[in-house]
Amino acid sequence: MAGVLDETMPAAVYVGDGAMTVRELAVPRPGPGEALVEISHCGICGTDLHLVLEQYARPNSILGHEWAGTIAALGGGVDGWELGARVVADATPGCGTCRACRRGRPAVCLQREPPDYLSFRGAFSRYVVVTADRLLGVPGALSTRAAALTEPTAIAIHTVALSGAEPGDRVLVTGGGPVGLLTTAVLRARGIEDITVSEPSAVRRERALAVGAAAVVVPDELPRAPMAGTVPEPFTIAFECSGNARAAESAFEQLDYAGTLVFVGTGHELPRINHNRAIVLELTIIGAYNYDAAGFRPALDLLASGALPVDDLIEADDVSLDGVLDVMQRLAAGELAGKVMVTPTVRVGETDE
Ligand SMILES: [Zn+2]
Ligand SMILES: [Zn+2]
Repeated sequence: MAGVLDETMPAAVYVGDGAMTVRELAVPRPGPGEALVEISHCGICGTDLHLVLEQYARPNSILGHEWAGTIAALGGGVDGWELGARVVADATPGCGTCRACRRGRPAVCLQREPPDYLSFRGAFSRYVVVTADRLLGVPGALSTRAAALTEPTAIAIHTVALSGAEPGDRVLVTGGGPVGLLTTAVLRARGIEDITVSEPSAVRRERALAVGAAAVVVPDELPRAPMAGTVPEPFTIAFECSGNARAAESAFEQLDYAGTLVFVGTGHELPRINHNRAIVLELTIIGAYNYDAAGFRPALDLLASGALPVDDLIEADDVSLDGVLDVMQRLAAGELAGKVMVTPTVRVGETDE
């Protein structure tokens, strides 16, 4: 154990002004009740894109929260885990008693500390420390790489659950990036088949069909709604996964009577929503932020079941720590469809210290 902890590790560090660099940092020490996990893979999230490309992150922070890895060292008082065990870290539970928790919404537990993404110490690095009571073992049927999809899959499961989607619903997904694709795949796994994905990027439309969309459209193909009444072929539920204001406005116009718009993608520019339409059609607008009360276990189980098209949800090429910024820019430009996995490696000669 001392061996690992005396080493240094490479990490992709945000240095400000939208720039990242790879640094060698001390390996963090697990305290009592904690585990040191060697990262196998960590997915790049839309949140990471916002934090870096829109420069919200605090300089010297390390991003990356969608990880899976193996236990490399254990702090004192941790029972039941072996070195080398393959793990992910579960969501932190809510208090269980507040109004939000009682309604099955621990993601917005009223006792929760506000998330501090700005000083986040993440997994675009070789090791992370996590409290051992959050560890979940990766099922034997699931690769560690695919297990790094657990966190965004838990979000997609929560999103679909909040929407109330059922087989027979006619669903629109606006945005065919990693979030829209996972939402589509989880809908399919839940037996919902009539799914249309609206997406401007051809590579993303193609991938949407591969992960289970029944149809794809470019955003301009979606009609404007008449003043009173619906478009010719309305949807019962729309998941807005792009964070684009125009997409949100259009998704809202595609809804049928008593339809539901679910906001999943965040964005700078605010959509303009016609409230008259919400009244006359009795529409529902909800937001979906992160996880169900069951945490990550249902996501691990769903991934291990083989019901999700993991190979189409994850980009074939993993990226090393020094390639993260480049891939973020390509994701923001819509050039890549699926989730990109980061491995905690560095191409030779790329560290700056
Ligand atoms: Zn994420
Ligand atoms: Zn609570």
